Amino acid sequence: MDYLCAGSQGGIMTILCANPLLQYQSYKEEIDEAIARVLAGGRYVLGSEVKAFEEEFADYIGVSCGVGVGSGTEALHLALAACGVTAGDEVITVSHTAVATAAAIRLAGAVPVFVDIEPNYYTLDPAKLETAVTPKTKAIIPVHIYGQPVNLDPIIECAKKHKLFVIEDCAQAHGAVYKNKRVGSYGDMACFSFYPTKNLGAIGDGGMVVTNQPELAGKVKLLREYGWAQRYVSHTDGWNSRLDELQASILRVKLRYLDADNAKRIKLAGLYHKELSKLNGLSLPIKRENATHIFHLYVVRLKKRDELRNYLKEHQINTLVHYPVPIHRQPAYNKGQKLAVTESIAKEILSLPMYPELKQSELETVVSAIRTYMTEKL
Ligand SMILES: *Cc1c(COP(=O)(O)O)cnc(C)c1O
Repeated sequence: MDYLCAGSQGGIMTILCANPLLQYQSYKEEIDEAIARVLAGGRYVLGSEVKAFEEEFADYIGVSCGVGVGSGTEALHLALAACGVTAGDEVITVSHTAVATAAAIRLAGAVPVFVDIEPNYYTLDPAKLETAVTPKTKAIIPVHIYGQPVNLDPIIECAKKHKLFVIEDCAQAHGAVYKNKRVGSYGDMACFSFYPTKNLGAIGDGGMVVTNQPELAGKVKLLREYGWAQRYVSHTDGWNSRLDELQASILRVKLRYLDADNAKRIKLAGLYHKELSKLNGLSLPIKRENATHIFHLYVVRLKKRDELRNYLKEHQINTLVHYPVPIHRQPAYNKGQKLAVTESIAKEILSLPMYPELKQSELETVVSAIRTYMTEKL
């Protein structure tokens, strides 16, 4: 993975796109202490750290229940299964997302149905939703992509009308706010990933399902551990998707700094905006009204995306593309469907370096390389 290619080229430090190592170093003392506590405690999966983290994280999001699981993909898979989604059902989502969103729908046995996105915000376009609903539709998964909240109100209204579950994919939106409440508190259920580069990242894999409905939380708890209601006695189907104590203890430390870290990302996004807004041919992120975008990624758009990307690489600046091939065009999912907005932006989007520890001087290096390219090389 690109973000792991730390180090120097010819003595010049590479500026990475994300940097989980620096985040560990920021909170090293507290994280090392948490790890030592777990190692000495002797309980390594689903113990007191997981229970405490589930409560603290649910509280942070503003919901009553949290269930720690193995990954973000598993959180989605378990949430779908808890809602009763099964073989032959359809689940509506976007093609412009991590493939994990669609993979989880397939894991639940269902068929992903893709709708297009809003051209300004890159999130599920509510105007395209109604026509995608069929008698087989069971759920909608809106994705708060890049940390930008989805326009949830009309989606929830459509779901109510057709009696569908709404499962928010919050894997890129820990702490983002839509109309004065955090995302993850609007849907029937919401799913988070703690992959190391996410806004709240573990030192390995992890995920969480949150909900205000104890019955759904109870189902996820059964499903994540063989259907056990008590040890060694299965009451339902189930498999193994547990969160471990080490990850939970580390996530508890980092949760205390999540708002401060998101504020740093927002400040960096403001600097990018100020420095890049005058460049012709470069589109910058547009923030939705009544929402807080927490900039998991800072994504710009331009016609000669690959050329700029190569130019930055030559100047030791790493960038990424989230995502280069829309899911409905990937071999595993391609059924010849056309989604105009999704396809057009996939060729033009570029994720610039963005993480809380990114220094202002480094951001200025990125900005000045982009400026040089856009004004002199284009
Ligand atoms: C990261 C991500 C996931 C999957 O999370 P994992 O923990 O990697 O399984 C799902 N959806 C979106 C939008 C993501 O960014």
